[in-house]
Amino acid sequence: MLSPEYVRRIAPYVPGKPVEELAREYGLAEKDIVKLASNENPRGPSPRVRQAIADAVAGVTRYPDGNGFALKTALATRFGVEREQVVLGNGSNDILELVTQAFLRPGDEAVYSQHAFAVYPLATQARGATGVTVAARELGHDLDAMHAAITPRTRIVFVANPNNPTGTWLTPSVLKSFVAAVPRDVLIVLDEAYNEYLRPAQQCDTASWIAKHPTLIVSRTFSKAYGLAGLRVGYGLMDIAVADMLNRVRQPFNVNSVAQAAALAALGDTAYVEESARLNLAGLEQLMRGLDALGIGYVPSHGNFLLVRIGDAAMVYDRLLRKGVIVRPVANYGLPEHLRVTVGLEEENRRFLSALREAVGNTGPGES
Ligand SMILES: *Cc1c(COP(=O)(O)O)cnc(C)c1O
Repeated sequence: MLSPEYVRRIAPYVPGKPVEELAREYGLAEKDIVKLASNENPRGPSPRVRQAIADAVAGVTRYPDGNGFALKTALATRFGVEREQVVLGNGSNDILELVTQAFLRPGDEAVYSQHAFAVYPLATQARGATGVTVAARELGHDLDAMHAAITPRTRIVFVANPNNPTGTWLTPSVLKSFVAAVPRDVLIVLDEAYNEYLRPAQQCDTASWIAKHPTLIVSRTFSKAYGLAGLRVGYGLMDIAVADMLNRVRQPFNVNSVAQAAALAALGDTAYVEESARLNLAGLEQLMRGLDALGIGYVPSHGNFLLVRIGDAAMVYDRLLRKGVIVRPVANYGLPEHLRVTVGLEEENRRFLSALREAVGNTGPGES
């Protein structure tokens, strides 16, 4: 093959199984399938956002605003930064990719934690750079060890907070000390995809740290709490000089016009996001109570998902699929005994718990 060796070595990202695929493969009706596999908001976009999407459709004959003026202005106002400090992405995955494109050369190193989000190693490897995986501490980031792993070749450190798939979370004070201690020639990508799900007392305005730490990049997304995963919009907040580099390597129209309009409306609909976060906490409680009753362990989560310790995860995953419940195997994250389940609506959580009870129980005759 003609592609570089480091590209051929990439193990492609494995997404959650789509509802349509399961329906096709197992002959199930789509309406009977519960998908709790990709940490999406089970409520869908808010009514205001749906209206904004409908209104934006008429404009799709034109190219989008490549500078995302309206959305960037709203984000800059929200976070108290300059508009030039905001970079929009085709999902926040795009931001992660753009950082590696703009800053990693073959031979450079990027540091991330064991069990951290799968896109960090993928994006690093695609540039021919070397990924340095730091052993986790109690499944979460070991920031001391990550700091110790930084070498003169390190260009980027990735930190997911909360982390997916473990749901672990670092307190702002611990994180702030880490940011202050990282050498000034190393970028810190702070991935806050689940920030909106934190309790208000846990929220922290990390973007305000950028002024003092110009190598800090805060990345967030409209895919999770805002319910816009299908439209692909995320953003990064960073120093103007860093943003300038990302803008050089991004596609000129990387965020489409419908997505920009939807994200702008979603950002303004704070009540909807707050209600989503509140329902998520109730759903987490429901799942934890149900798992407790089944005697099944889990990792306390700060996101909209729960890492469940199940033993033979591959078998349980398959049994759940046959019952029309899609969750996420995480063996590729070095967690072969766990499954990750997204918090769904109350009825979906109930479906999951009852399917799980059957899947792990003594399946009587006739059950497969
Ligand atoms: C879901 C997720 C993202 C971003 O997804 P996008 O849809 O590309 O915005 C980023 N980081 C983590 C840790 C995630 O779980």
